[in-house]
Amino acid sequence: MTRPALPDWRTTLPWPAVDVHKHARGRLGVVSGKATQTGAARLAARAGLRIGAGVVRILCPPDATAVIAPAIEAIMLTPFGSDEALAEAAANLDAVVIGPAAGINDATQANVRALAGTGAALVVDADGLTVFEGWPEDLFEVLDRDDVLTPHEGEFRRLFPVLLEQGREAAAAEAAKRAGAVVVLKGVATVIAAPDGRLSVNDNGTPWLATAGSGDVLAGMIAGLMAQRMDSFDAARAAVWMHAEAARGFGPGLIAEDLPERIPAVLAALY
Ligand code: AMP
Ligand code: MG
Repeated sequence: MTRPALPDWRTTLPWPAVDVHKHARGRLGVVSGKATQTGAARLAARAGLRIGAGVVRILCPPDATAVIAPAIEAIMLTPFGSDEALAEAAANLDAVVIGPAAGINDATQANVRALAGTGAALVVDADGLTVFEGWPEDLFEVLDRDDVLTPHEGEFRRLFPVLLEQGREAAAAEAAKRAGAVVVLKGVATVIAAPDGRLSVNDNGTPWLATAGSGDVLAGMIAGLMAQRMDSFDAARAAVWMHAEAARGFGPGLIAEDLPERIPAVLAALY
């Protein structure tokens, strides 16, 4: 049996210099939802740490502090009480995930706007996308070309109501152009599209990935690579492939918590 060819982005994976320090390995932030919705941020943060970001910080509403603090070790915690405080915290980060379990409300929309322009590259997922339903141009205006949107098909349709009629690949490509950012259209085969026309389809996933929190782990993996200054399109492609590889060997019983713990083995096979 021959091994499948290794993906071409393998040579672009970050590798720490001998004298590196943790801050130089990338500083990742993950915005948490309220006190009853903190698990998604912890999953994303753990995935970001496992994929090599040197410093990972959860940014949380003050009421969530007491819930998150006992549930993390290497991950740090910064409560923020205003959009200004969130932007200030993000100014010291290389990449930020916003959206998982954030809540579909005005505060989430204000958080996305506050993060834009802080210098941190953004991964916008889940509720961070849905809050722009009906007015996606408001989101596109604040995005940079190296930001990444990670919708599943339902979230994609809310932002781009008719594009899917063209098929998933054409839809993702057009969405990336309109958004001016990388679009990761998740599903059985995940399409990754950049605004400059680069497009990639990834199909090494399994249906066992359809489990709560799976997408939150992926968002953390993409942002964890972006924090290490990997090109956003390559980071998205690499993370999508590794996310699916992390599920290999699992069948029934796979839960999202398993995925970050499998990242070291997936990375070891690539380096
Ligand atoms: P989310 O819907 O945000 O939780 O993300 C689910 C993740 O699991 C995405 O990375 C999907 O691509 C992946 N996924 C979900 N269902 C399947 C499936 N049937 N086959 C392969 N991958 C899947
Ligand atoms: Mg999701």
